[in-house]
Amino acid sequence: MGPTLGVLGEPTLVLNRSWMAITTTTVRRALSLLFQDSAHAVCPRTFEVHDFASWASLSVNGDPCVRTVRNPLRLPEVIVLRSYDALPLRTVAFSRRNLYRRDSFTCQYCGLRPGAEELTIDHVTPRSHGGRTSWDNCVLACVECNKRKANRPPEEAGMRLVRQPVAPQWSWDVELGPSRRDSWEGFLPRRNGNGHAHPGNGHHAPPHGNGHHAPGNGNGGANGHGPNGHH
Ligand SMILES: [Zn+2]
Repeated sequence: MGPTLGVLGEPTLVLNRSWMAITTTTVRRALSLLFQDSAHAVCPRTFEVHDFASWASLSVNGDPCVRTVRNPLRLPEVIVLRSYDALPLRTVAFSRRNLYRRDSFTCQYCGLRPGAEELTIDHVTPRSHGGRTSWDNCVLACVECNKRKANRPPEEAGMRLVRQPVAPQWSWDVELGPSRRDSWEGFLPRRNGNGHAHPGNGHHAPPHGNGHHAPGNGNGGANGHGPNGHH
């Protein structure tokens, strides 16, 4: 396969069934998922969804392609998984930085965003009560709430969590690296001023049920809204 090896090693963006970018994989793996019908290919311009046969029948009009023994195959730059377990997710490492991201720099007791300097990591069940340092027992708390809660479980302190803490379901750190494709732009969460993404709000629905239409405004992501035009 010599000359095609480089192309096969290039990255493909992987969306889950809700069209959220969850990771990248190689073109080689993407083609394999496509061939096994574990994923469909998404045209980044039209947002049309294709199974392998349909994708293979597309003509290559100057698009990136993979040379095969038969016709050149359009390179799948973006694929959407057909089931949630088609590709195992990388687990998100529990770290201070990732916790700040998960909780969106927001105190999980009062809901305020006092700024990173004024936030602390709170053990919901205090360590002295056997609480673990884990995704499901650590939240961001502002200095005030932390002081008020002191060394008590929230019930004892008469405080309530904004939401139950859980491990993030995918990595925000989709390693796009230097080989990030322009064609992915419409599929990636937009970043705010803090430099952290907000992919976790569940509003990233597919443009349309069958995926065979462009998004409502038909701009194809040219103005940065892409298929996920919320916020
Ligand atoms: Zn607070």
